[in-house]
Amino acid sequence: MRPLIAGNWKMHGSLLDSAALAEAVSAGAATAGPAAELLVCPPFPYIQPTAAALLGKGVAVGGQDCHAAAKGAHTGDVAAVMLRDVGATHVILGHSERRADHGETDAAVRAKAEAALAAGLTPIVCVGESEAQRLAGKAEAVVTGQLDGSLPEGFAAAGGVVAYEPVWAIGTGRTPTEAEIAAIHAAIRANLTAQFGAPGGGLRILYGGSVKPGNAKAILALPHVDGALVGGASLVAADFLAIAAAA
Ligand code: 13P
Repeated sequence: MRPLIAGNWKMHGSLLDSAALAEAVSAGAATAGPAAELLVCPPFPYIQPTAAALLGKGVAVGGQDCHAAAKGAHTGDVAAVMLRDVGATHVILGHSERRADHGETDAAVRAKAEAALAAGLTPIVCVGESEAQRLAGKAEAVVTGQLDGSLPEGFAAAGGVVAYEPVWAIGTGRTPTEAEIAAIHAAIRANLTAQFGAPGGGLRILYGGSVKPGNAKAILALPHVDGALVGGASLVAADFLAIAAAA
């Protein structure tokens, strides 16, 4: 399947920065014609201008979160339909930073994923163990438990995406070994086929956590690694494009 290289810009940059980054990514994508599908996920205020700038340029735009409701009295929140309305096609859900900062549970993530599907957005549902959980030998159990709790019915039919991001590898420069990544991705694939049958075999599973140009090729070559969710390196167009070129 065609790999997906997604950039999570998190809460970084300004309006000008996001415009320059989008321009550089789309220029690089146009010349390289990468085999990978590209996606960038700016902070909420920059989604609309980024989507407008990237329209027809082969780089999709996504949100970093959405509310579970389609509308209502939820001050400060953003509905999936609103993301769709301003040009987003994807939304990252259940990122470990949201699970930590906002106490998002698997059930909350699942409700958000349902809202994303209802709005016609592709959910990218994040799972991943903490360092303590890995050291306790519980990484696979934690990740499959999160999948069981976070993925709604209809996820596979809509081509939902799973991102495996070990919490301790995010922004740290540390990654699991290739064997460890391959083992978790195989477990995720088994879970997806157990939950959804054959369609689960065709869903993309991204790896995220300190993906850089220097390690992208080896990670992206592993079985059941169908792309990457990139944080820090997605803020530098040349690095993001180098990761895409490695796919
Ligand atoms: P880094 O690539 O900065 O480790 O972040 C990964 C991430 O959290 C992407 O969602």
